[in-house]
Amino acid sequence: MSIDDHAEELASALGVDKEEVMEDLEKLVSYSVPIDEAKQSLRRKYGDGTGGGGAEPVETDIADVTPDDGNVSVTARVLTVGKRSIRYQGDDQVIFEGELADETGRISYTAWTDFGLSVGDTISAGNAGVREWEGEPELNLGESTTVTIRDETLEVPYEVGGERALEALEPGDRGRTVAVTVLDCERKTIDGRDGETEILSGVLGDESARLPFTDWDPHPEIEEGSSVRIENVYVREFRGVPSINVSEFSTVEPTAPVDVEDSARSMSVREAVAAGGIFDVELVGNVIEVRDGSGLIERCPECGRVVQNGQCRSHGEVDAEDDMRIKAIVDDGTGTCTAVLGREITERIYGGTLADALDDARDAMDREVVAESIAAELEGREFRVRGTLSVDEYGANLDASEFAPHDADPADRARQLLAEVGQ
Ligand SMILES: [Zn+2]
Repeated sequence: MSIDDHAEELASALGVDKEEVMEDLEKLVSYSVPIDEAKQSLRRKYGDGTGGGGAEPVETDIADVTPDDGNVSVTARVLTVGKRSIRYQGDDQVIFEGELADETGRISYTAWTDFGLSVGDTISAGNAGVREWEGEPELNLGESTTVTIRDETLEVPYEVGGERALEALEPGDRGRTVAVTVLDCERKTIDGRDGETEILSGVLGDESARLPFTDWDPHPEIEEGSSVRIENVYVREFRGVPSINVSEFSTVEPTAPVDVEDSARSMSVREAVAAGGIFDVELVGNVIEVRDGSGLIERCPECGRVVQNGQCRSHGEVDAEDDMRIKAIVDDGTGTCTAVLGREITERIYGGTLADALDDARDAMDREVVAESIAAELEGREFRVRGTLSVDEYGANLDASEFAPHDADPADRARQLLAEVGQ
């Protein structure tokens, strides 16, 4: 059945205007409220005593909640509360989201109204909707849900509160609190949903890791070199790695200096790929091949994409700009990834500037001589690569910030690899 059909059915059952029902229904569905719950909520709104509004569902253990349950009632401890604003058809709506737990398990929730939830509260949520989100059940606390704060405290085998080390953050996390040092911070003007708007973006670090961040409502306490505690951040995946989002609802306070691990995490290619992407990682492996699209390349002046024969995929015929880069396949025995090296590193490896490379290509009447020379320099040798690894359907790419010959004793390296494999 389409939404239109559902609206039709509801409108005739309730004896109200279809347009009105349709508008409400579309809104609820756009917030990912399951259609059955949406209809039930509208039956209640339009005063149908017969449908759906009967007895509350029986109390369910959180571990037993599945997306097949239409509605459930749970008693749970509030582990985290995040607050965020979303927009639907020009309206801002504030939602609350986080995790609930009982003795049996944990579950994510989204509250579409403000129930005044605080971290550590023990609550009974009657008639909460269940939807599936990324393969897991999630509770929807909406208009048809009754939330009661209980006096007694439910003890749960989970951490209450959102404090986390950066290493533990994953895309989808909400209501997290971090204590970090701002390593890099840049003010940018972007074309946002309300026109031009200022944001901050950069890198945060703690003892466990570094991660990129965006502050959508620039907080003055966030500046390069400062250490801050940020309450209520959420985590999204951005270019294949977890990214911290700070919003107007985040609280930022100066804190005692937070030490940051200076070196990148050292990993095998297999580990890094299995993690699904890592912001700052160091790999050691052999360059087995310098791929096509290395050496002298041309980029679109508008979008920076690599162009072929002066044709940009987005901008058509453009006056392309020369550039240099290397795409090198690195193999460490556990897996392979493509290290992408920008102009600066490429010039160093080539042993000449972009202008030199263009001269060399002109002399040889062949642009490929540059890539060939680079391949001769790199292929079959071992390198240490540091950068951001992202994984997509085409494989793993490492956007390199450092690239250098690896001069560690090969025997050491072999022992280390054997130890890893033996784990
Ligand atoms: Zn372009």
